Amino acid sequence: MLSYDVVEWGQALEKRERVTPTPQGTEVLVKLKYCGVCHSDVHIRDGYFDLGGGKRLHMSERGMQPPVTLGHEPFGTVIAAGPDARGAIGAPLGVDRLIFPWTGCGACVRCREGLDNYCMAPNMIGIQRPGGYADHLLVPHPRYLIDADGVDPVWAATLSCSGLSTYSAVSKLKPIPADEWIAVMGAGGLGLSAIGMLRAFGHERIVSIDIDAAKLQLAKSAGAAALLNSRDGDPAQRLKQVSGGALYGAVDFVGASETANLALSALRKGGKLILVGLFGGEIALSIASTILRAITVQGSHVGSAEELKAVVALAREGKIKPIPIHTRPLAEVSRTLDELKAGSVVGRVVAEV
Ligand SMILES: [Zn+2]
Ligand SMILES: [Zn+2]
Repeated sequence: MLSYDVVEWGQALEKRERVTPTPQGTEVLVKLKYCGVCHSDVHIRDGYFDLGGGKRLHMSERGMQPPVTLGHEPFGTVIAAGPDARGAIGAPLGVDRLIFPWTGCGACVRCREGLDNYCMAPNMIGIQRPGGYADHLLVPHPRYLIDADGVDPVWAATLSCSGLSTYSAVSKLKPIPADEWIAVMGAGGLGLSAIGMLRAFGHERIVSIDIDAAKLQLAKSAGAAALLNSRDGDPAQRLKQVSGGALYGAVDFVGASETANLALSALRKGGKLILVGLFGGEIALSIASTILRAITVQGSHVGSAEELKAVVALAREGKIKPIPIHTRPLAEVSRTLDELKAGSVVGRVVAEV
């Protein structure tokens, strides 16, 4: 098999060849067709995430030591299964599957409940274990194979990261009272897709907040009922006006101090702020005010396999729409990461094996 690997942090990926693995135990071998190229791999290839304030999260602290194969949006054909992946739990040999990448240890309570994304010993595909910038991929268990029939496989590949992250974040606001307002902070790709998902849930009272007038117009087309440019006037005052002084919830896809504080200031009693964006920054949380307002501040990172199935179902039913996607040969994956870093990619790129 071949893969394109980080051999040294911060350097171009290198093509490496090795023996194609034989699946053991519950493992499944997938011959890859596609793998989405996610912007977070730009940071992972560099070897760290910038946490702001001069702080960095190094990938070595997340259990990664080069050489490593990145790529956490894989899609391919199941071609072999270990002895414990046959029979009842059945790996569907010869069938195309989307792969849930956020795998855990497989043994702890969270993993057994299907909440691998909350595992304290994560073993995620394309992070701690080899990922999809390759022609073959070992998947630890058939339960991570997701049936995406009826969805364009190129689009399906991208659902396992951005689509799932958006869905899981928005779902944390459920149940959403129909007559209450939700703020979506940031009208980039995730923010727009969140508006689409809220509309798919049947919710209409959505205010989109951004600093870019053109992006806000896209948010309007995506179904936002109100727009707020946080560069204009007193955004906190205007957010209170829009929401009648009682914002039920906010999902922050930016994750800067300004956006999180703006949302916090407008929440009603019992309101919820979901943090998703990793821009970085800090919020000062008054303990007494948090208690007296009974608010919730919750982080949301990727999602579960069940949630990915729900995202695929929304895509299959046409309730969420694809974003512009280009395919490129897998051999160009490192150059694609360069372009993502330079900000010159429009839409998403999916590597074709
Ligand atoms: Zn990603
Ligand atoms: Zn676990």
